[in-house]
Amino acid sequence: MGVELLGHELMHVAQYMQGMNLLKYIWASRYGYRKNHYEIEAYQQGSMIKTALIKASHHQLANRLESRLVDKNIANSLFMG
Ligand SMILES: [Zn+2]
Repeated sequence: MGVELLGHELMHVAQYMQGMNLLKYIWASRYGYRKNHYEIEAYQQGSMIKTALIKASHHQLANRLESRLVDKNIANSLFMG
């Protein structure tokens, strides 16, 4: 998912602005890429953004369905009442 990758990369930008440099990054990778705390933080950020967007789209869908139901109720009361 593109937005997850974007969130991940933006976290690296933030890390860089907070003083991360190539040497620190390489040192943090000494036990492997997946154990690098900069990567762990970036993966967390990416999945958090993805989860937030999925929740937001579900919310939007639920609202849309709900407004359809309201329309249906109004239509029913106009034709039945
Ligand atoms: Zn990364």
